[in-house]
Amino acid sequence: MDVQWLLVCHGLLTALVLVSFFCGQWPIFQGTCVQRIHFFITFAAYDYFRRFIHFACGSRGSNAMLSVEYYCCDRPNPILQLIYLLIIGTTYYFIAKSSFGYIPGYYLNGVHRYTSFLAVGVGILLFLLTSFSDPGTVSSANVSQYISAYPYDNIIFSEKECSTCKIPKPARSKHCSICNRCVARFDHHCGWMNNCIGEKNTGYFMAFILWHFLICIYGVVALTLVLAGRLKELKVIYILTTYYGIENSFRSLAPHVVQWLLSAYNTPILIMMFLAIISLLLAGFFTYHAKLCVTNTTTNEMAAAAEGGWRRFEASGG
Ligand SMILES: [Zn+2]
Ligand SMILES: [Zn+2]
Repeated sequence: MDVQWLLVCHGLLTALVLVSFFCGQWPIFQGTCVQRIHFFITFAAYDYFRRFIHFACGSRGSNAMLSVEYYCCDRPNPILQLIYLLIIGTTYYFIAKSSFGYIPGYYLNGVHRYTSFLAVGVGILLFLLTSFSDPGTVSSANVSQYISAYPYDNIIFSEKECSTCKIPKPARSKHCSICNRCVARFDHHCGWMNNCIGEKNTGYFMAFILWHFLICIYGVVALTLVLAGRLKELKVIYILTTYYGIENSFRSLAPHVVQWLLSAYNTPILIMMFLAIISLLLAGFFTYHAKLCVTNTTTNEMAAAAEGGWRRFEASGG
């Protein structure tokens, strides 16, 4: 197998592992290999590692691991925020390094050097707005306002007090055990943002997802135009048909062109594949959340309704 194809396989495998790690719990991946890889990376592999540490270092090692686990999973921490910045930073760096030399090109205007920077900048700004905005923290000062805004349905939400905050719990709110506060119209706690998504920042969150979907599409289209421009500028089709005697048809030329692109431009191609996969995931995630917005439901209520349905099913002897 050619080195180029090995590179592509390596890229695809890395993308699959990344997607599984970050998005494996999403409902669209239920029952697929993505979910199984996610389970292995986040649970099974970790479980084996924990047993190994206990075997090698005894209970001191296990306790140290438990405190790391507590800090990473059960307390607010910026780990995933830093990973997001690392992903967007390195992707942009590799795009600039591998493709900016060809901009302006045959099909792409020089302005895209700046618009791409601006697009990433807006993405980071939306990330900061979602991460550091108040999701709608319920306090004794504003609780009555939230109670009148959201009436109790007595199905999922009935009148009660939050045992931790010692204030009445408005309907549609939830106490986030990670942030240790009650949040109005609670959707979910987002590890990537290190913040809850609720009443006041769902708009920023949706804009963040949509914008990142658009950036990925922009990246794929711009890189495609860069490569198409290189084909044109270097007269690849002309050389292949005139000097190598290859028939001037799409079917005959395509394998040679692909081979040439893979050998000369493997970095932009790998980035394009990565962006295409991420854009599909973001499209799925955005559609799911847009559906929730249209039906005026939250992820938290969907989970509560599913659990309620399951309990009723169990109670009926199912
Ligand atoms: Zn609370
Ligand atoms: Zn939270």
